[in-house]
Amino acid sequence: MPKGQELNELTIKEASKMLENKKITSVELTKACLARIKEVDEKVKACLTVCEKEALLEAKKADERRAKGEKGELLGIPYLAKDNILTKGVRTTASSKILENYIAPFDATVIKRLREAGAVLLGKTNLDEFAHGASTENSAFGPTHNPWDLTRVPGGSSGGSAAAVAADMCLFALGTDTGGSIRCPASFCGITGLKPTYGRSSRFGLIAMTSSTDVPGPIAKTVEDASIIAKVLDRQDKYDATSAPVEKNTYEKEITKDLQGLKIGLPKEYFISGIEKGVEDAIQKAIEKLKELGAEFIEVSLPHTKYGIPVYYIITPSEVSSNLARFDGIKYGYSESKNPEAHMHSLYDIYAKSRGKGFGPEAKRRIMLGTYALSAGYYDAYYLQAQKVRTKIKEEMDKALEKVDCLLTPISPHVAFKIGEQSADPLKMYLEDIFVTGASLAGLPAISVPCGFDNGMPVGMQLIGKRFDEGILFRIGHNYGQATNWRKMKPKL
Ligand code: GLN
Repeated sequence: MPKGQELNELTIKEASKMLENKKITSVELTKACLARIKEVDEKVKACLTVCEKEALLEAKKADERRAKGEKGELLGIPYLAKDNILTKGVRTTASSKILENYIAPFDATVIKRLREAGAVLLGKTNLDEFAHGASTENSAFGPTHNPWDLTRVPGGSSGGSAAAVAADMCLFALGTDTGGSIRCPASFCGITGLKPTYGRSSRFGLIAMTSSTDVPGPIAKTVEDASIIAKVLDRQDKYDATSAPVEKNTYEKEITKDLQGLKIGLPKEYFISGIEKGVEDAIQKAIEKLKELGAEFIEVSLPHTKYGIPVYYIITPSEVSSNLARFDGIKYGYSESKNPEAHMHSLYDIYAKSRGKGFGPEAKRRIMLGTYALSAGYYDAYYLQAQKVRTKIKEEMDKALEKVDCLLTPISPHVAFKIGEQSADPLKMYLEDIFVTGASLAGLPAISVPCGFDNGMPVGMQLIGKRFDEGILFRIGHNYGQATNWRKMKPKL
């Protein structure tokens, strides 16, 4: 290990080698991460819950498993999970007041898989309430700050997870991506984030936002690390009817191949005016680098791209309005019925007052928009129409991907913006998702890979692959990462 480097700064690949060679223990690694959280999280505010005692216990167990001869790249590796992923015995809030004290009775499948692999859960990270947002400012518990510049947002909605990875509070984190929520914060924080193909990793135990596009995925320091995590997560789950029966993944092999002969599509609708010059330059340089590495570029056209935002912002609130109906002040979560001063007169009173107090403004906005779009008389004009256009978007992307191995686009037209700069204008915030909704609506895998800086803030590029072809994204991202130094840059905190 280079002199001066702390254990919490290691990648999974490096740490697992050191664990295997008995140079370090998981307890030491876990303690280093916990110390880093104590040192910097007062400024970054990435974590909502830190479970120190439980983490040290899990680390000890991982060390014991290794001592007995067990192997595994995640055995003893500490991580954080976004707080909309259920963790048995550890509070899960979705960054909402309505779930402030909620403790789930079971683990989400992705958490269970990581537990089986021996990864060590350090705690839970901040997000936009119920994952509604692109900046982590919509959290009921206050915003997370970008480790590269504390006056800026980390992106969202998995902003806590991305900021924590960028600030080396953990070796990796879990996020969820419904319409960019892994890719956007990964790009704003200068790290790697994968949104797997819809159905590739289980949604069981995620607090549902938009069930037809939600997908959990890894946020990591390198593309290779993301592939190691995905290898563990990406399997069919009998508890999720939409999880797909895909054969074993071969990411390990894929990643070792070079880029000779690969064709990458550049959708012209993603290279529009309005993209910040520094972002455009970084993406252009990445394209040049990939050409040097052997990839060939072809222009493609996705004319329905312009409908991505309107379609997403009809389908998403519609599903949100339905998914949030379960928070009624009765089954679980915050209830006004327990407030002696609330003067409940009817069941309706309990619903209305509990939801009125428990939900923040963005959740309420989406419930209203979605209820409207789904209501009799408007359903055909909005929801049904949006679903038809969604099919067009999907068909068009699938068709473009028949000609190329993957697509390359920016993640965002700009770098991380200042906290408070956009929060007063919800429509402007929705426009943040301009380059990320396509892959979500089409259910395609997409990865954000760091590709440079603009005014000292990280820039990410997006690679979108064919359904269930995460392998190609890892292969291109890894080759690019090895040929550049972006992944090694660290924020100074
Ligand atoms: N910005 C998107 C939204 O607000 C991100 C959602 C997500 O991926 N969870 O809907």
